Amino acid sequence: MSIDTATHRTAGSVRAGAFGNATHLRCRACGASAELGPHYACLECFGPLEVGYAFPSVTREQIEAGPRSIWRYQPLLPVPADVGSFRTMDPGGTRLVRADNLARELGLAKLWVKDDSGNPTHSFKDRVVAVALSAARELGMKVLACPSTGNLANAVAAAAARAGIRSVVLIPEDLERPKVVTTAVYGGTLVAVRGSYDDVNKLAQEIASEQEDWAFVNVNVRPYYAEGSKTLGYEVAEQLGWRLPDQVVIPVASGSQLTKVDKGFGELVSLGLVEDSPYRIFGAQAQGCSPVSTAFKQGHDVVRPVKPATIAKSLAIGNPADGPYVLDTVRRTDGALEDVTDEEVRAGIALLARTEGIFAETAGGVTVATLKKLVDAGQLDPEAETVVFNTGDGLKTLDAVAGRVGPGATIEPDYAAFLAADLS
Ligand SMILES: *Cc1c(COP(=O)(O)O)cnc(C)c1O
Ligand SMILES: [Zn+2]
Repeated sequence: MSIDTATHRTAGSVRAGAFGNATHLRCRACGASAELGPHYACLECFGPLEVGYAFPSVTREQIEAGPRSIWRYQPLLPVPADVGSFRTMDPGGTRLVRADNLARELGLAKLWVKDDSGNPTHSFKDRVVAVALSAARELGMKVLACPSTGNLANAVAAAAARAGIRSVVLIPEDLERPKVVTTAVYGGTLVAVRGSYDDVNKLAQEIASEQEDWAFVNVNVRPYYAEGSKTLGYEVAEQLGWRLPDQVVIPVASGSQLTKVDKGFGELVSLGLVEDSPYRIFGAQAQGCSPVSTAFKQGHDVVRPVKPATIAKSLAIGNPADGPYVLDTVRRTDGALEDVTDEEVRAGIALLARTEGIFAETAGGVTVATLKKLVDAGQLDPEAETVVFNTGDGLKTLDAVAGRVGPGATIEPDYAAFLAADLS
C-alpha cells in the first residue's frame, strides 16, 4: 500500500481491473507518470494529468457486438469490464445526421451533424460524467460534485440520482432558468454562487481539496472525466463506416472535448480500427468568450483569461484549462479557431433548425455559425467531408431565439379568419 502525499489517500484498495486497460496517469506537460488514483495535477510540475493505457488488440466486431452506448468502447476507456452492469445513464449512441440541406445552403459537398442533444440529459456531458462516476465509484468516493456552466449540472444531478448517491452542484447565479430547473428536479444539493463560472470553479477546487471523498467530476477526477469525450470521436468514425472524417468543427469551453476527440481518432488509428487519413480539427467559440480563438489568431501559445459576456453560457469559461492543448491540436492538424457574435449564434440556431430540423442550444449555434464563417472565409475545404458537432438541446436555451420566432398570426377559430390572415 502506498500513501500519496498530495491527498493523503491510501492507494492499493482499488479492485483489480477497476480502470480497465488504463495503466497509469501521465503529465501532459512534462511526461512524468503517476499511479491511477484521485489525482489531476502532476507532482513534478503541476501540469494536467491524462490517462495512459496498455491496449490489448481490439476488433471492430468486438466493439460492434457491445451495447448501443459509450460502454461498447469499454476496452478504450478507464472503466471496468463490468461497467455496463452498474446503474449509469448509458449515454452515447447518438445520431450522425446527413445534413444535405445545410450543406447546399453553405456550399459544402458533404456535411454531417453529430447530434449529441440525444443524450439522456440532452447534452454531451452525460458521456464525461458516466466515466467520472465509474472512477469515483472505483476510488470509493461518496459524493458526485461539479462546478458547472449548466449542462454538466444536469448530467451530474441525474447520474447521481440514478446511481443512488448524493450530488453537490455549484452553478453561477445567472444561469438560464431551464438549466436550473432541469438540475434541481433530480434532487441533490444545488448551490447558486454569486460570480462567474471561473469564480465557481475556484470555489470547487477549494472544496475538493478539503472533501477527499467528493468526486468533483471536472476537477479531482478530471483525467477520467475527460476520457469520456473520446467516445464522440469513436462514434463518428464508426458511424462513417470505420473511417475518419476530413474536417470536424467542435465547440470549445474548457477545450477538453476538442483535444479528446483528437486523442480518440489517434487511438483508432494506432489500434488499426481505421485507416490513417489526415483530418483537420476546427474550434468554435463565442466572441463574448473567445480566449482560445483570440490566442490562435494572434499566434500566441499562451491563452489570456477573459471575463465572459455571451448568450452561449455553456461555453462561457474565461480561463480554459485545456486552452494551450487546443491550440496545439488545431495547429498540428492544420485546422483553425474562429469566433462568432451573439447575433450570429442566434442565426446559427435558426439556420440549423430551418435546414435540418435540429434545434440546438446556444453552443450548437456557436458551432454552426463558426462553420459558416470558416466556409465563407475559405478556411474550410468545401469539397472535403465535414462533421459539425451539436452538443446540446435548444429547449434548454429557449430565450436565445424566443424573441425572433413565434406564430405568423393569431386568429379566431374559424375558416374565414384563417383565409383572411396574412400568412406569407
Ligand atoms: C461543456 C460543453 C461544451 C464544451 O466542453 P469542453 O470540453 O469544456 O470544451 C460544449 N457544448 C456544450 C453544450 C457543453 O455543455
Ligand atoms: Zn509534469
